Parts: sequence; structure tokens; C-alpha cells
Amino acid sequence: MINALISITFLCIGSLSSLIIYRLSPRNNNKDINLFFPRSHCPSCKKNITNINLIPLIGYIKQRGRCSNCNIKISLYYPINEILHLIIGLVLYSIFGLSLELLIAFLLAVILIVLFILDYRYFLLPFSINIALLFLGLIGIGYAEVFNISFLDYNNLSMSVAGAFIGFVFLWLVNFFFKLFKGYDGIGGGDFILLASLGSIAGPFALPFIILFGSLASIFIYFFKIKALSNQIPLGSGLVLGFLIFLLLNYFELLNIYAVL
Ligand SMILES: [Zn+2]
Repeated sequence: MINALISITFLCIGSLSSLIIYRLSPRNNNKDINLFFPRSHCPSCKKNITNINLIPLIGYIKQRGRCSNCNIKISLYYPINEILHLIIGLVLYSIFGLSLELLIAFLLAVILIVLFILDYRYFLLPFSINIALLFLGLIGIGYAEVFNISFLDYNNLSMSVAGAFIGFVFLWLVNFFFKLFKGYDGIGGGDFILLASLGSIAGPFALPFIILFGSLASIFIYFFKIKALSNQIPLGSGLVLGFLIFLLLNYFELLNIYAVL
């Protein structure tokens, strides 16, 4: 019973994350739309979605993947995003059980998914979401074991602040020199804050790994994203993946930071 309730909660948060992504995307860059208003509606015919069809997965299956009013196809991305949240949530639940650690880790995962998709699709890292992540990194630090980085004996605020500071300054400097030679910005300001946030979570010693894995992942995404006609590389999405790779290697004890340092 409790497992069913928890699964439904993960699905609902997955649905909420799709909503946040949709409403923060640049095509909705007008003032009469925000997180709470208006009601969820079909982007094509603008008809409000009935309560039953708002239920994650069930609504999609009941409508057979089409808007019940105008019959336009609902993107598969919505149920996939909900299932992704469910899977990540259940994995974290199996690690942390029903605890504050689960809440922090799942919140972190949701924010990273939102940032990954927004940067991948629109090269957008919203300031509000970025700051939420930084805040989570700084306050979540008392729970360093959440991120399984306790091998750094890192459970104090000063290390977290150092990680944030170095992360920010590193990318800022890279961009500074880039701009000096090329005359225009090479890295968006959102990327500085994102790396600062990741530094505040994983600490300064994790940054070289996150930057290395993140850069490789960015290049991989760039080539993988065939439709991308722009020359921009989604560095933010790459950093999110780089951070994930770091966490996984660290979790499975494949990366001994002291052996490398
Ligand atoms: Zn419709």
C-alpha cells in the first residue's frame, strides 16, 4: 500500500516536472502564463484538460495518446518523463528508504532533469531553478551521505561554499579568456551557476571530474542531437550528465578520488 502511494507520488511529481518545463520554455515567454495559472490545457486547441485526464499515465492511456477534444497527438515525452521520475524515485527509495535523504535526493534529481531538458531543448538554464539547486546544495550539506560523498570527510558548509565558489569562478574565467580572444560570450551565465551548484553538492575535489565528464558528455550530446543546426553546445545538459557519471562511479566505488589526486 505504502509502495503504491509512493509510486503515485513519484508519477505526479514527474507530471509536475513536465508542467514546469513546459511553462518555463521560451515559447511560453508571456506574462499570462505561470506555474499556477492558467489551468492545464491542450497546447493545440487550448481546451482545459479534465481532472481525470490530468492523472499521470492514466490520462494518457485513457485518451490513447490523443487530445480528447481536438484529437491531436500528445507527445510521448509526457508519459516517458513520468515513468523516468518513477524509476529514479524507486531506485532512490530502495537506497534511502522513506527518509529525509530520499526527499533531498529526489528533489535534486527532479531539478537536474528539468535543467537537463530545458538546456537540451532551448539552451535555457532558468535563474530560479539554478538558485534552487544551489540552495539545495548548501543546505543539503548536513546530509552529505545523501550523495555518498562522505569519503571526502566533507560535511561542513565551508567545503560546500568553496565548491560553489570554485565552480563559478572556473567557468567565469574560461568565458573571460574566450571573450578576450573571440569578442563574444562562449558560455552562458546559467552554466556558471549550474557548476557552482554542482560544486556545492559534491565539493571542490569533485569539480575536475564533473568538468571532464561534463565536457565529454556535452560533445556527445552535440553530435547525438542531429536536429541541432546551431553551433551551440548544450554545456548545461553535459554538466548534469557529468555530475551523474561522477555520482555513479563514486557510488559503485569505481572512482577513488585520493588515488587520482
Ligand atoms: Zn486539443
